[in-house]
Amino acid sequence: MKTEVAIIGSGITACSAAYYLAEQGRQVIVLEKDNGVGLQASARAAGGVRQQGRTGALHLAMAAVQLWAGLSEEMQAELEYVRTGNLVIALDEDSAANLERETAWEQEQGLADVRMMSAAECHKMVPGLTDEVVAGKHCASDGSANPMLVTPAIARAAQRSGARILTKTTVTSLLFSGAQVTGVATDQGEIEADFVINAAGPWASRFNDMVDCPTPISPGRSQLLITERFSPRLHPFLTIMGKAYLRQAVAGNIIIGVGGLANDRYEQYVDYPSLKQYAQLVCEALPWLKDATLIRAFAGITEYTPDEEPYIGAVPGAAGLFVAAGFHGQGFCVGPMAGKIIADLICGRASPVSLAPFRPDRFATASTESGGEAIIYPGERA
Ligand SMILES: Cc1cc2nc3c(=O)[nH]c(=O)nc-3n(C[C@H](O)[C@H](O)[C@H](O)COP(=O)(O)OP(=O)(O)OC[C@H]3O[C@@H](n4cnc5c(N)ncnc54)[C@H](O)[C@@H]3O)c2cc1C
Repeated sequence: MKTEVAIIGSGITACSAAYYLAEQGRQVIVLEKDNGVGLQASARAAGGVRQQGRTGALHLAMAAVQLWAGLSEEMQAELEYVRTGNLVIALDEDSAANLERETAWEQEQGLADVRMMSAAECHKMVPGLTDEVVAGKHCASDGSANPMLVTPAIARAAQRSGARILTKTTVTSLLFSGAQVTGVATDQGEIEADFVINAAGPWASRFNDMVDCPTPISPGRSQLLITERFSPRLHPFLTIMGKAYLRQAVAGNIIIGVGGLANDRYEQYVDYPSLKQYAQLVCEALPWLKDATLIRAFAGITEYTPDEEPYIGAVPGAAGLFVAAGFHGQGFCVGPMAGKIIADLICGRASPVSLAPFRPDRFATASTESGGEAIIYPGERA
């Protein structure tokens, strides 16, 4: 089999790259090991589309949010993308001071609608919040979308534009002629390609290792709790620092994210004793949740990098090989833009944002020891 571009993975990033390449008339094949499209983190995310709280990826997230504004129309599908704002709550003075510093830096970087909020303003925005609130930080242009809808919609749009998607097809290796990538080997046979995009999420490192470009990614396991449906009562995407993050879905369910655990074996089981602890924490912060009935819990595999930034761009040492992976828990937001950027690069267009923080070879000479350490993020933000 032969194609212009072979893409490893079918998550939000891969499908976006496939769509924008196919739109440019490029011949694309998406290769997915699972029995369906985008069933890993891209389907299991909390759905946060957030700019605030980013560091190296702030400008990428801001560009992503511009893309998200027209994504539903572009994909001809309902994505439940809503700009409800994102509110981060500090429960102590030190955390509030950190938020103040973050706000000043983000405003300086051009994120115009981020601002600090008093405890009283937080209570007004989120009725029923604990009295422990010291201050909040709000970004009005942040929001969320429904992960169950987004990646399948982008995949369908890519197919309409001519991309092929092969599921149950595991990429086992890259093919080369000298320093030029010439395709991929899969468990279903070889596919020749002029370009290969490595969008394999937490599994991506092994392909970059093949060309001596270490891109350390530690798999994590993040869990979500889903409540019964409520009438509208939680407007912003809410992060309670050190405890949990949560949002109300368009359908009315409250989705509660409870932090990441190290996950060297790429497991997806739900750890009920830890969920009970986290549920107690979130109920302390938002006491009305004590009466909520939980209907579901699930886990997904996140991807952590030593400097908390993704790898996006051409992989040095292998002409024709690109990577967009290792999103450190922010790939639902920035994945569509990262996929578009890779498509642009392949089509000879410049990235609209600097890719310097995301250089795939930034750990090539540095020690990568920290990449293998267990990383635990108890109040990680989505
Ligand atoms: C519980 C949870 C909550 C989250 N919440 C948010 C959030 O609110 N906001 C946010 O921005 N991000 C969030 N994230 C992170 C986000 O989901 C990920 O960063 C994003 O989905 C990564 O997308 P991806 O396309 O790069 O990778 P993935 O979705 O991981 O897709 C990679 C794909 O590659 C396939 N693959 C791997 N190896 C091979 C191979 N050898 N051959 C073929 N196929 C292969 C996999 O099966 C998979 O389908 C969350 C993640 C989790 C788990």
